[in-house]
Amino acid sequence: RARQEGDGGYLFFSAEMNRRAKEHLRMESELRRGLAQGQLLLHYQPKASLRSGRIVGAEALLRWRHPLHGMVPPGQFIPLAEETGLILDIGAWVLEEACRQIAHWQERGLKVPPIAINLSSRQFDHHLPMRVQAVLDQYGLGPERIRLEITETLLVRGPEQVIPIMNELAAMGVGLALDDFGTGYSSLAYLKKFPISTLKIDRTFVVGLPGEQNDCAIARAIVTMAQQLRQEIVAEGVETAEQMAFLRGLGCDQLQGYLFSPPVAADAFAQMVIEDKRLALG
Ligand code: C2E
Ligand code: MG
Ligand code: MG
Ligand code: MG
Repeated sequence: RARQEGDGGYLFFSAEMNRRAKEHLRMESELRRGLAQGQLLLHYQPKASLRSGRIVGAEALLRWRHPLHGMVPPGQFIPLAEETGLILDIGAWVLEEACRQIAHWQERGLKVPPIAINLSSRQFDHHLPMRVQAVLDQYGLGPERIRLEITETLLVRGPEQVIPIMNELAAMGVGLALDDFGTGYSSLAYLKKFPISTLKIDRTFVVGLPGEQNDCAIARAIVTMAQQLRQEIVAEGVETAEQMAFLRGLGCDQLQGYLFSPPVAADAFAQMVIEDKRLALG
């Protein structure tokens, strides 16, 4: 009896795994084709200063305009792209597309703030600084036009692996932001060793503000630490005026979230910059 169940379970899992493997293969080739056929695009989410309310930056966020499924969010294809290594080609495209767009805005006389670009840890190798410099040169952009967002998963490789690359980028003048801070494994002892100019408090700690005491304590600790380390601090996923007021009270520098604006198409972002859209600080 038990054995039969076991066999059945095995059969079930094997069929299920087979189905998933096929699904992955299909999606990978669709994504590869999508990249080649121009189905990927970037949206931009503005970051507002908690002092002036003005737009002081934006984050480029990847979208896949799938011919059948419509606009697919990155959470649904980046994990697969990371697994297969396709993220390297996609990441190269993102870097180039963001720089192309910034140069285009500049040519039209638009004063665009620095644009942050997300990097997969797989892109973070010793060729990266040279590649970034080549794209900046190609579009005639200064290094202060972009920022690079990295995550804590990168830091687990150990300081001796990543610090030289980070230092090279910092020496070039490209600012580094640590994304989703607090969700990963980075130890506080490590943190001061990395040339990171910005910390982004993850949305999971912002959601409970100001009602959840634990979230308040964590947010306060992160802001205090960032201030001591002279890092700029950005709160992600701010959706309510109450969250904003609390973060502002802590001395957090910038806010990114639906309260101010969701990620929008490039033209819509340019329009916000032209109109000098401001966050109502209340
Ligand atoms: P992330 O870098 O932490 O980006 C912030 C995410 O939070 C975005 O999701 C954004 O739409 C969402 N968000 C912003 N404000 C709010 C809010 O007020 N409420 C809620 N509920 N969500 C908010 P998105 O665009 O789906 O991106 C998800 C993740 O995919 C990103 O998280 C990033 O890790 C990854 N990603 C996006 N674009 C790229 C890319 O070009 N390259 C790489 N390697 N990863 C990317
Ligand atoms: Mg990010
Ligand atoms: Mg983030
Ligand atoms: Mg996040």
